Amino acid sequence: MAKLNVELVTAEGRVVSQEADFVLAPGAAGDLGVLPHHIPLLTPLRTGEVMVRNDGVEEYLFVSGGFLEVLPDRVVILADAAERAEDIDQTRAEAARRAAEETLAEHAGDAMAAAKLERALYRLKVAEVRRRRRDRGSRPGAS
Ligand code: ATP
Repeated sequence: MAKLNVELVTAEGRVVSQEADFVLAPGAAGDLGVLPHHIPLLTPLRTGEVMVRNDGVEEYLFVSGGFLEVLPDRVVILADAAERAEDIDQTRAEAARRAAEETLAEHAGDAMAAAKLERALYRLKVAEVRRRRRDRGSRPGAS
């Protein structure tokens, strides 16, 4: 079976470098699912969640901003920020969420605070999805 080569890079370094069967990413025009032999494209990314599936194993990541390039056997994501679910600091994301909400309560149209709030909420979501899947996996008899 053909595989994709997935690279996810930020200015701080490489977050993902692996083979995959499928990648789901938040493209600017909507969520984008990529299988091997996808038509080449380049799109800006929204803030959101990236899922990389390989041999039935799904990995979830947070990304904010940047670009996604698809080539027939390759997916390259250059993100402003990205973290694997297990590397997300939930306490920090909660603090960022509260700070952004406080700013928005005083300045409803503050675009930077709105973007910060969106990042915090997606970080919390990605971390929570991982926690739930881990709990489910550890329950006796769970599939
Ligand atoms: P904060 O206010 O907590 O800095 P932010 O949304 O403004 O949040 P970013 O600008 O998106 O932060 O990211 C700055 C750097 O900090 C990046 O390297 C990013 O990966 C890292 N980072 C931000 N929040 C978290 C978090 N909750 N867990 C792990 N890394 C984080």
